[in-house]
Amino acid sequence: EVRVRFAPSPTGYLHVGGARTALFNWLYAKNVGGKLILRVEDTDAARSTRESEEAVLTDLKWMGIEWDEGPDIGGPHGPYRQSERKELYKKYVDQLVEAGHAYPCFCTDEELEAMKADAEAKKLPPIYRGKWATASKEEVEAQLAAGTPHCYRFRVPKGQMVRIQDVIRGEVAWNTDTLGDFVLLRSNGLPVYNFCVAIDDASMRISHVIRAEEHLPNTLRQVLIYQALGFPTPIFGHVSLILAPDKSKLSKRHGATSVGEFREEGYLAAAMLNYLSLLGWNDGSEQEIYSVDELQQAFSLDRITKSAAVFDKTKLSWMNGQHLRALPEEEMRAMIGGGWAASGLLARTDSPFVAAALALVQNSLELVTDADRELRALLSYPLAETVAGEGAKAVLADNFQQIAETVLAAYDSGDLAAALGSGEGGFKKWVMSVGKAQGRKGKRLFMPMRVAFTGSMSGPDVGEVLAMLALEDGDVADKDAYV
Ligand code: GLU
Repeated sequence: EVRVRFAPSPTGYLHVGGARTALFNWLYAKNVGGKLILRVEDTDAARSTRESEEAVLTDLKWMGIEWDEGPDIGGPHGPYRQSERKELYKKYVDQLVEAGHAYPCFCTDEELEAMKADAEAKKLPPIYRGKWATASKEEVEAQLAAGTPHCYRFRVPKGQMVRIQDVIRGEVAWNTDTLGDFVLLRSNGLPVYNFCVAIDDASMRISHVIRAEEHLPNTLRQVLIYQALGFPTPIFGHVSLILAPDKSKLSKRHGATSVGEFREEGYLAAAMLNYLSLLGWNDGSEQEIYSVDELQQAFSLDRITKSAAVFDKTKLSWMNGQHLRALPEEEMRAMIGGGWAASGLLARTDSPFVAAALALVQNSLELVTDADRELRALLSYPLAETVAGEGAKAVLADNFQQIAETVLAAYDSGDLAAALGSGEGGFKKWVMSVGKAQGRKGKRLFMPMRVAFTGSMSGPDVGEVLAMLALEDGDVADKDAYV
């Protein structure tokens, strides 16, 4: 049975890197009919908070990622918070000590410091060389009886090669001599992170550990623990980093990095999911827009790429526009029309005017939050700003005056109203007739027309904008939108 896990440390928000790890695990579970386990790695009591745990779970749920076992829903291998599993870790330490794979170490901090300094001076690797690895049973018993503070160390086997077949990176091998006897349980009774992960992955029956590349150095310790306890070693896959466009590690200074920030900026969960799934994975085709179902169908571990992925917000925004336009009419109206009403721009969310505005605006949207600005641009008439450019001046200079006068005259005479009212294509026919009468076409006709009617050098079809404006019937609540 395939059992994968996502194991966030609740010390902050869900970062896009974590979200992608969660997503890959979830998609894989869905693809093969396996289970996703959510485990909260809160052994670092000073940095872990319940608020952070809740925030991470909320963001995962927002993206539509669901788990089969976890701290909020329980399951047969719980509890699912490391802070609630301390007895289990102690039990396995005892078992390792019993079997000779671990031993209590009574070295004081000063002794350890001195050992470290000595190793540094002799240019030796900084590994544990204290006496407790080889102390006699009697010596140990005496210290225990005296209540001397102690930690527990894992006895790393000497001179062995440990190999894994990473599903993404291929064979990875380590020589155990690079590793000193590491701590499993600190003298204050707190288990060490790598130990918890190994025990949890084994006792939660995790079959595949798919996680970030930065955890690769931990894998050696974890595999040694599995081997010492006789647990089967899971399959590992270490996913490459997500880089910023400047190829440095993606961080705060590059802008939004947490899922929550993107949600607040107006990104859709479907777009976020789609975009993150393609950061380091592809199905071999040119397809870019995927529904969740398609991703679940297509996902496979063997097409996760080894090279780092670059986070490109422009691409994400483009993708968001694609998903936005793919929404059912109803949802689009609730989202965009609701936004217009919420911002105070429109008085209602459902009317012929709103429908016309939606139809016009949606094609240029990337984010839902763009809609306000786009509609205001159609309602307003910022002539001076838009026609001041040199290119515009050149086209307009000898064409605008006559067209503007024609438009005003047609407005006064009612010809324009008649043209607009004569059904679809009526406005276009009128424009063509003006062109014919004045001997102008192309840019010399359409550009000054556009400017005369909308005050802008660009935008949707002018006839459609006018048709929308004609439908206005108390819809626009914010009169300042007309400037
Ligand atoms: N808790 C670790 C993290 O948030 C994940 C460790 C793992 O996946 O093994 O980076």
